[in-house]
Amino acid sequence: MDGERALPRNREFEFELPVGYEDAEGQVHRTAVLRKMTGRDEAIMADKRHRSNGARMISELLGNCLVRLGTIENPGLRVAQQLYSADRHYLLMKLREITFGAEMQATYSCPTCQEATVLVEDLAELEVVRLGGDEVLEDLVVRLEDGYVDRSGTVFDVLVFRYPTGVDEERIAAASRDNASRGKNALMARCLKSMGDMPRPRLEALGSAVFSDMTLSDRRLIDQAMLSRGLGVSMQRSVNCGGCGRDYDAAIDMSNFLAAS
Ligand SMILES: [Zn+2]
Repeated sequence: MDGERALPRNREFEFELPVGYEDAEGQVHRTAVLRKMTGRDEAIMADKRHRSNGARMISELLGNCLVRLGTIENPGLRVAQQLYSADRHYLLMKLREITFGAEMQATYSCPTCQEATVLVEDLAELEVVRLGGDEVLEDLVVRLEDGYVDRSGTVFDVLVFRYPTGVDEERIAAASRDNASRGKNALMARCLKSMGDMPRPRLEALGSAVFSDMTLSDRRLIDQAMLSRGLGVSMQRSVNCGGCGRDYDAAIDMSNFLAAS
């Protein structure tokens, strides 16, 4: 397993977070100790209340299973919510790995002929991109081609984003469930720190309308910028279709993620 070290009791495992958690004093904690999931954690996953908010379920699960984060003992729910999404996904992957093993059955559907391909993924083999040792996470600056045009015709084309956290994931869960694209707009709006020299209150009043009005090519620029920083576990894989023989790119199928397979 990547970056992992078994601690004496063998139920707890140590990992290095891709980004890290900054506490109120500005100290960054990157060494995470997870324990294996228990029957109680399984009950959290089965809880009906969580069907409407998977992000909240992940927060509770990580809050329970994180034994230590740097010098913080039992960090709990609040810290799990404040972790960057990249770190949360990484920890979830490791939680699956230490509890059920690294192999996971995944099903992909060919975009051309719809043939299903079943593969066994080895989660331990997925590439993990981490910040360098003393590197600090910088905000993401994106220069748009078309930009956001307001009613007076002023163009705003430099956007600055912070990286999303568990709190953001929880807040946009309802919108995402109804409409994935709307959920994405809501997430981008939450993480948008500035747009050109537009005053903050005006930016907040616009909310996700900024992204609904944006051209698709600009939206692609934002996606590419977010991917190119690519911190955390790389979830893209190439699949060869057994039906038509074509190769296609897909995000790793996580539907069996928190179950033995
Ligand atoms: Zn095919």
